[in-house]
Amino acid sequence: MTALQEAVARYWGYTTFRPLQREAMDAVLVGRDSLVGLPTGGGKSLCFQAPAVVRPGLALVVSPLISLMKDQVDTLVGNGVPAGLYNSSLAADEKAAVSAGLRQGRYRLLYVSPERLVGEGSDGFLELLSSCQISFVAVDEAHCISQWGHDFRPEYRQLGRLRQRLPGVSLHAFTATATSRIRRDIAVELALNDPLEFVGSFDRPNLLYRVLPRSTLKRQLLDVLDRHRRESGIIYCTSRREVDALAEWLTGLGMAALPYHAGLSDAERSRNQDAFLSERVDVIVATVAFGMGIDRSNVRFVVHVGAPRSLEHYQQESGRAGRDGLEAECVLISSAADFMKWRLMLERGGELSDASQGLLRQMERYATGVGCRHRHLAEYFGDEYPTEKTGKRAGCTACDFCLDELEQVVAPVVLARKILSCVARVENRFGATHVASILRGHASRQVVSRGHEKLSTFGLLPHASLTEVRGYIEQLIGLGLLQQAGDEYPVLALTATGLELLKDETRCPDMTLARQRPPRKTAKRAQSRAEAESWQDVDRTLFDRLRTVRLEIAQSRGVAPYVVFHDTTLREMARLRPTSLEALLAVKGVGARKADDLGEAFLAAIRSHSSRRHCQVGEYGA
Ligand code: ADP
Repeated sequence: MTALQEAVARYWGYTTFRPLQREAMDAVLVGRDSLVGLPTGGGKSLCFQAPAVVRPGLALVVSPLISLMKDQVDTLVGNGVPAGLYNSSLAADEKAAVSAGLRQGRYRLLYVSPERLVGEGSDGFLELLSSCQISFVAVDEAHCISQWGHDFRPEYRQLGRLRQRLPGVSLHAFTATATSRIRRDIAVELALNDPLEFVGSFDRPNLLYRVLPRSTLKRQLLDVLDRHRRESGIIYCTSRREVDALAEWLTGLGMAALPYHAGLSDAERSRNQDAFLSERVDVIVATVAFGMGIDRSNVRFVVHVGAPRSLEHYQQESGRAGRDGLEAECVLISSAADFMKWRLMLERGGELSDASQGLLRQMERYATGVGCRHRHLAEYFGDEYPTEKTGKRAGCTACDFCLDELEQVVAPVVLARKILSCVARVENRFGATHVASILRGHASRQVVSRGHEKLSTFGLLPHASLTEVRGYIEQLIGLGLLQQAGDEYPVLALTATGLELLKDETRCPDMTLARQRPPRKTAKRAQSRAEAESWQDVDRTLFDRLRTVRLEIAQSRGVAPYVVFHDTTLREMARLRPTSLEALLAVKGVGARKADDLGEAFLAAIRSHSSRRHCQVGEYGA
């Protein structure tokens, strides 16, 4: 075993590496500049933490957020790795203690904010560091340096000075961004010297993607929440008003949910975030202001009520689900109105460039598309997606399309032309609901008052529900056959391509349209492969019990629960049910230090659970 493997097993309790971890660690060990792009949950932290333990000297880690630093340092210390942090949150005496620790060479890793390292007045601190032997610098969340990124931070811009300030020290950048342009930007801004680049696959097989046309929103949300009782999730909304309304509604239903948006006071925001991170509440309803620093690794669902402005944003935000690698669900609930709203907002902000329109258009294609969602995302970010291996229709097993929740329309062109001709009959002057009413043959007051019940398109789709027809209309907008215009009362209009299809039915040979398959009442609900695997042989009652033990320990120590153990580790415990310290050490994620420190508490819970199970089997069993 190499020194590196030994350290990883001893401090982290892992015996294998994730893809590209090994390569990334080797670059750090030999001191060659590097840039690592791995998806959220890909295991970037270990890529610099493990080498820091093995290489002599002190590793510096630049991190953008105080809360992220604290969690990482808490976790390291819990694993028995001497680590500290230095940022503006420290009181004078804490700073003095860290300085003393640095002089004594007590730390293997020091987390610092960028301004401490290269900002104004950082000279004194750098002088102190120059007396330490700096082994390397890791820049975490490196995309914050790029203005193209979604999390641009001006403080990160100053990191360009690192090279001169710490000559001869290797730099290693880490990011979860899938965009190659941003990665190029990082290399340039940090003046990386002929860096080794390691870019992994950004597909997250543990995430199950679903896309729903917005209809009865509350029903749609309840369906998601039902699948995730006692689990944690984020509901993203595009307006503060909607955040407040939904948070209130959920609370009214007796769920522990809290709002988060920029309109709340700082104190309330940080209180709510803290409640979520410490697992006192499970659901947070938020605007995108709730973002980075969400290090809670066991987020089991992320719902977007309203589409974001790009697939980059969607990937980033939905990617907060399932960071621990366990199954999680990402649901996008959207309608054409979302995209109109974005166009309007971008226009007002003077930002409606070709680039931003293009990004929005790609988001719209995803929201209205019918196909494998994993493939769509992977290909968008320039990854190849393997074609189906199973011989069935598709292989991802983790999206609504591949789980067969969408039903494809048999004659899509015929259906499309019915809808287009109805839009033409009302002369591009009515909205989607009105058009849908006519098609369904619903003689509503509005329809009758315009005499539209006499149109030849009245009742062309008598068996379709309103949601279904609206869904088709959304898809036609997504396909560029219809467009929506107008602010307050958006009306549907044919595009040039739509008009062509209306005239000539051979125009769109490969079109697909789909509708949500009605839920099968009797069938077991669909499961992704990741979900089935991660629960295999797990005693769920024991898992819940272990979560409670974890929560109690976390609360008594003032750390976040995932700092104690990740869900993956608890599930493994509930699968293997170890009853001795030795057996516990074989559980992935249990290092020597943690076993010593916390082992007994968890073993006690497992033993008492097992004996109770035996009793029950004795009483009621065979
Ligand atoms: P990232 O920073 O890339 O989003 P993290 O560093 O937070 O990802 O790692 C995600 C999860 O994977 C953490 O729970 C971490 O402990 C776990 N992990 C990392 N490397 C390994 C490994 N080699 N084996 C098992 N689990 C790992």
